[in-house]
Amino acid sequence: MAQPCKPEKIPSYENSDDLRARVHFCAETGQIWLHEHRMLLVHAATQAALRKELIDTLGMDRARGLLTRMGYASGVQDAELVCTRAHDTSDLDIFMTGPQLHTLEGIVKVTPIRVEIDRSAGRFYAEFLWENSWEGHWHKHYYGIQPDPVCWNQIGYACGYSTAFMGRQILYKEVECIGMGDSNCRIIGKPIEEWEDGDEYARFFSQESIADQLMELQTQVVQLRSAMNAKEKQHSDIVGNSPPFRAAYELLEQASKSQITVLLQGETGVGKEVFARALHDRGARRNESFIAINCAAIPHDLVESELFGVEKGAYTGALVSRPGRFERANGGTLFLDEVGDLPLSAQAKLLRVLQEGEIERLGDQKIRKVNVRLVAASNIDLRTLAKEGKFRLDLYYRLNAFQINIPPLRERKEDISLLANRFLEKYSAIHGKKHRGFTDKSKRTLLSYAWPGNIRELQNMIERGVILAPSGTRIEVDQMFSSYHTDHSLEFGLDSNGGLEIAHEKTGKELCEAVFNGVMTLDQIDGMLVDAAVDKARGNLSKAARLLGLTRRQLAYRLERLHEQDSERTGAISRPVSDQL
Ligand SMILES: [Zn+2]
Repeated sequence: MAQPCKPEKIPSYENSDDLRARVHFCAETGQIWLHEHRMLLVHAATQAALRKELIDTLGMDRARGLLTRMGYASGVQDAELVCTRAHDTSDLDIFMTGPQLHTLEGIVKVTPIRVEIDRSAGRFYAEFLWENSWEGHWHKHYYGIQPDPVCWNQIGYACGYSTAFMGRQILYKEVECIGMGDSNCRIIGKPIEEWEDGDEYARFFSQESIADQLMELQTQVVQLRSAMNAKEKQHSDIVGNSPPFRAAYELLEQASKSQITVLLQGETGVGKEVFARALHDRGARRNESFIAINCAAIPHDLVESELFGVEKGAYTGALVSRPGRFERANGGTLFLDEVGDLPLSAQAKLLRVLQEGEIERLGDQKIRKVNVRLVAASNIDLRTLAKEGKFRLDLYYRLNAFQINIPPLRERKEDISLLANRFLEKYSAIHGKKHRGFTDKSKRTLLSYAWPGNIRELQNMIERGVILAPSGTRIEVDQMFSSYHTDHSLEFGLDSNGGLEIAHEKTGKELCEAVFNGVMTLDQIDGMLVDAAVDKARGNLSKAARLLGLTRRQLAYRLERLHEQDSERTGAISRPVSDQL
């Protein structure tokens, strides 16, 4: 057995030698033992640096809570150790082991001033003098004299130790502290109920999860942002004149007058969230909250707590109670995007909420009434999912009270120019640019492209064009479409024989429709074919002519004419054809 590090005389309580005898330095195993607890001998200065970093990172208040709880935990550990000591001595003798340990561990020299303990009656009063407080010294060293006591970790220790020892909550306060400029620290401990402001201190003992708080703040930011964009979206993104769009829009207007549950079906990127928000903004709940959640973006094991909320302690890691999206949307609208991705257990709960209008947070017995208008959306046909057993049929019927199918962009080509101009306005304002519109080739390409990503894709491409095109110019095809698109995805591709590819037969019909509806002219289609052939031949006019079944001369003539039309219509100064040859 070895002696503790500093041969300073420990206050002469009856059993202090016995206590020191319990310290074992095991050089062979690299361990230090205090009875059966592994201890560490660490540098006070580096501990102090760590403490400082905690404070600087988390702020005084949070660091105080954390340090207090750390101290509390060591206090509880030492109380366990004390319970292994002989029980033939008095409560007071046993209790005094704690202050001795605190001293032995090198934290602070503890001298009792007045201690009255009656464990069976639950009576407790203790007053100690603290000298050489490790924590107070370093706090003053880094932060100077403070208006409040600073020995948080040590106070935590005293509270944890006495609480575990007494089996009731004991709270200590520093009435003097070297951190406040006093010559020593002095502490008083009493049952928490006997302190007038006990509740205020209790918060330092309860854990808080910073991750939870960050998530909460993140949610708030998202909500605020979407609320800020709401008005703008309402007016700018719902545009269209095509019959399929107008049909969907009329349904939306009707649904907005009632509280009926709406199911929005449509491909990715067709604007389901914009529709959901428009439903909300046009309805009676417009002044209440609109809460959106993408069911596919949340891990399956978290989706129920996100939707229905969670009560503190419901599962490991649920450190604070949190309302779910249903509660947040109370009075307003809840938008469940990609509802087909909900796991079956969450579907069962969702069905119950819709039937009863009540929710139960996870780990809570309390029933809460909620009044929420539900709008659900899916890009997969829910009925198909139901047939495959992946979606509850009863929930499908419940959600499908009023279905709106939002058409894909390729079925509403007439709306493309309208949308393109709207996005051009929007992103020019956002990026502080002023353009003169699109080149004719750009316009033709926008109309001929298949838009697998629908409006979202259109929006992204226009933003790309706005960013890449210098102010004062017209946006060119390459500034919107990456080479991938122009190489692979444009419709009106020509096969090796120069004919329209068979897969585009349907597009051919759409093309005819576009001409009949006045969306495009024959000249534009002609130009589109010529452009496509020149692109495919990578600028080699002879090859492009062969693709079109024309002579090189005929093609050059068409290009010339096309170029003239472009300049007439736009007044733009464009490159002469000879440059392109
Ligand atoms: Zn102090």
